[in-house]
Amino acid sequence: MLMDGKGMRTGETACRKKLLIESHSERKGVFSVAKIMIVDDAAFMRMMLKNILAEDGHEIVGEAMNGKQAVELYGQLQPDIVIMDITMPEMDGIQATGSIKSLYPDAKIIMCSAMGQQQMVIDAIQNGARGFIVKPFQKERVLEEVRKIAGGAR
Ligand SMILES: [Mg+2]
Repeated sequence: MLMDGKGMRTGETACRKKLLIESHSERKGVFSVAKIMIVDDAAFMRMMLKNILAEDGHEIVGEAMNGKQAVELYGQLQPDIVIMDITMPEMDGIQATGSIKSLYPDAKIIMCSAMGQQQMVIDAIQNGARGFIVKPFQKERVLEEVRKIAGGAR
């Protein structure tokens, strides 16, 4: 059977598309979706993180707006990962990380810091935080940190 040039190109494109879809779903298959709790006093920051993470297939199980609330909510929700702001009223993210880790040693917490908060990030890591991201958020950096902890080979 003879195909004209146009037909072949269309066929090739369809084939390539199919391959792309298959390889994409394969990668999805090995990637773990995480239950994530977001902690930040700024509603706007929580919304931004939520969008980035949900788009990547993660489940946002809860949100807290200060460290005190985060400690309480952690016990109820038992999330896989916490994304924790540093500067918050009531209780800051460093203290909250310390409290959560003392109650739940397996807790996995990623700190969100602003520029110039290096010392606070170090304090948080000493309190048991696993990683950090710097504001303003870069989508890829956020997902990279989460993937490192959530596991999977994507
Ligand atoms: Mg803050």
